[in-house]
Amino acid sequence: MSNLSEQQQLEQEQQRQPRPRLGLVTIHDACPAFSTKIFESADDLERLNIKYNIALVPFFNEKEDLPRFPEFVDKIKSYKNCEIVLHGLYHEMKNGQFDNFHTTKEADAEEQIRAGLEIFHEIGINTNVFIPPAWKLNNSSIKVLEKLGFKLAEEQEEYLLLLSQQELKKIKLPKVLNWDSTGYPEKNIVNMGRDERAFKLQVEEKPQIIRIALHPRDPAEAIEDQKQMISTLKDSGYEIPTYTALVPKLEELVPPTGLD
Ligand SMILES: [Zn+2]
Repeated sequence: MSNLSEQQQLEQEQQRQPRPRLGLVTIHDACPAFSTKIFESADDLERLNIKYNIALVPFFNEKEDLPRFPEFVDKIKSYKNCEIVLHGLYHEMKNGQFDNFHTTKEADAEEQIRAGLEIFHEIGINTNVFIPPAWKLNNSSIKVLEKLGFKLAEEQEEYLLLLSQQELKKIKLPKVLNWDSTGYPEKNIVNMGRDERAFKLQVEEKPQIIRIALHPRDPAEAIEDQKQMISTLKDSGYEIPTYTALVPKLEELVPPTGLD
């Protein structure tokens, strides 16, 4: 033992400790236009007594500037077990196109993310977590997030842990469980069986992290499956944290860089 360096001892120690398994539950696309469905989902999750996240859209459709919807904002902020994070700026523009952070230029990404943060500030919400619409980001957007002090961003198959302006860690993940691939609840029925199978496989493979995304345009039946999945995760020993509670856990997961 005495021949081992401090670093090696630390690594052995880390291998001995069982790594926590983590389940992340997020309600997406929160905005006044979908308030009925969003509040139903949040009420359901509050009753399950788990931690969860709400991905809030500051200016949905270029129409719903949140400071103009104080009742909606107050209700969202009144939920006890959740963390609210930034989900783009418009999510969808007036012309129906998705607000995108994967082909955008750095200056545009910066303008949008700054505007989103500004609106959050006006309604008294702080965050350093960004979930891009469609879970897609390009390098210019990532640079902006680093510059603006974000700590965590989420993509379809990875988390980006933003450690400093020069340093970023990617944590590979199984594909997020998502029931809204079309934007229409009736068409999204096709995802019910697909997600059920994907979840079963993920539980068998026991990955470190499993993510469940609830959307207001999910098929109405999806919520029962989602609740069932959440209780399966709990029963299988998965811890269910908010994003902020997740960050230090991810930091432990990524190997030390040796730079210090
Ligand atoms: Zn979304």
